[in-house]
Amino acid sequence: MGNYDVIIVGAGPAGISTVLHLQQIAPELASRTLVLEKARFPRNKLCGGGVTPDAERILNRLGLDVTEVPHVDLDWAHFLFEGKGVSFRFAENYAFRVIHREELDAWLVRKARERDLTILEETPVERIVPDGDRVDVVTPGGTYRARVVVGADGAHSVVRRAIPDHRRPPYACAMVLWASPRESSSHLPDVGYFDFFPISRGVPGYVWDFPILIGGERMRSWGIANFAIGPRESRRRMLSLLAEEMARHGYRLEDYRVYGESVPVFRPDGPFSAPHILLTGDAVGVEGVFGEGIGPALGQGAIAAKAIVRAFETGDFSFREYRAEVLRSKVGISVRRRTSLAPFLYSLRRPSLQRFLWWRCGRIAEWVVKTFLFGWTTWGEDRRAL
Ligand SMILES: Cc1cc2nc3c(=O)[nH]c(=O)nc-3n(C[C@H](O)[C@H](O)[C@H](O)COP(=O)(O)OP(=O)(O)OC[C@H]3O[C@@H](n4cnc5c(N)ncnc54)[C@H](O)[C@@H]3O)c2cc1C
Repeated sequence: MGNYDVIIVGAGPAGISTVLHLQQIAPELASRTLVLEKARFPRNKLCGGGVTPDAERILNRLGLDVTEVPHVDLDWAHFLFEGKGVSFRFAENYAFRVIHREELDAWLVRKARERDLTILEETPVERIVPDGDRVDVVTPGGTYRARVVVGADGAHSVVRRAIPDHRRPPYACAMVLWASPRESSSHLPDVGYFDFFPISRGVPGYVWDFPILIGGERMRSWGIANFAIGPRESRRRMLSLLAEEMARHGYRLEDYRVYGESVPVFRPDGPFSAPHILLTGDAVGVEGVFGEGIGPALGQGAIAAKAIVRAFETGDFSFREYRAEVLRSKVGISVRRRTSLAPFLYSLRRPSLQRFLWWRCGRIAEWVVKTFLFGWTTWGEDRRAL
């Protein structure tokens, strides 16, 4: 079906970021790059739609302005335990933006196409077969060959399966639904809410409620994240906790269709690469505190692009250093810190400890979150690593 220097599997934020960064630093290589995507855009993607200033800064550096996409700017993000806690913002004038993923991802693909990058939709990759100094990428329509294959194919990555000895990562799970706003809700229209009460009820995660614009209509994105999925029982518990919180705001869970998705959690010792193969975004894993994956996927695309360019310059396609490069990068440090913090946060099951954290030490929590976990695109003076 054709030979390419690089094939990127998946045209979500990780895949599009990789090809856009490749074009920025090695336009010739980008012109010999193919992106294969199983869906047709606009495609559905389960997501709360929270887009942080870090995500936005990465896009700005690529010359893209995400405010072109319909969005809601949150005045504040409230981090709560049982409805009480601390409010803060990740940017000067707003907490973060919320963008419907169907619209965000279709816009990203359109922008890449406007820059003459090649994206083939409705082309599911079935298998990756390393073959000497090439990799075969098998699709129902035929086999493509490339020197480098990037697995940007999300949580259930097919490319990841081609990495020998890959250990099965732990999985997180999130459930999401979209509802019309309720007058009876005490939640404010332009505020996002994260309530960590599920921790004290056996679910290490939180319930969220964000405003979102879907097809121009104001809706609420409701969901629950659980960073330790276990037996079926834990999913039932997630649904009942989500129902409980929604009921406090005048919603009946049974009136909505709830969608669920499991995602691998990022681990520094998880699979990252094999000769001629790299993983990025959810194929590596999502961070374990908030499950914020859009910004990290966009950031990791830059690291993947640099690694690919270096491989073509040096002729060394082992990608032996790739894991260390991701872990050393600013985005990698941020994701690693969050993943280290998660077991501590989610071990505080006693309500008194959660109350102490969010009610009494809210400002300290804000400082930790804003200083050590987010804002990584602005860390330090040098922009050596994104
Ligand atoms: C319910 C839920 C809520 C979330 N909320 C937020 C949030 O509010 N904010 C946030 O930052 N993150 C959130 N996340 C995480 C975020 O959605 C992901 O981290 C992010 O989408 C990762 O981007 P990606 O490009 O790696 O993967 P994806 O966005 O999943 O993109 C992968 C692409 O690969 C394609 N693909 C898959 N398999 C193949 C194949 N075999 N062949 C070809 N193409 C393939 C898919 O169709 C898709 O287009 C949430 C996740 C869930 C599940």
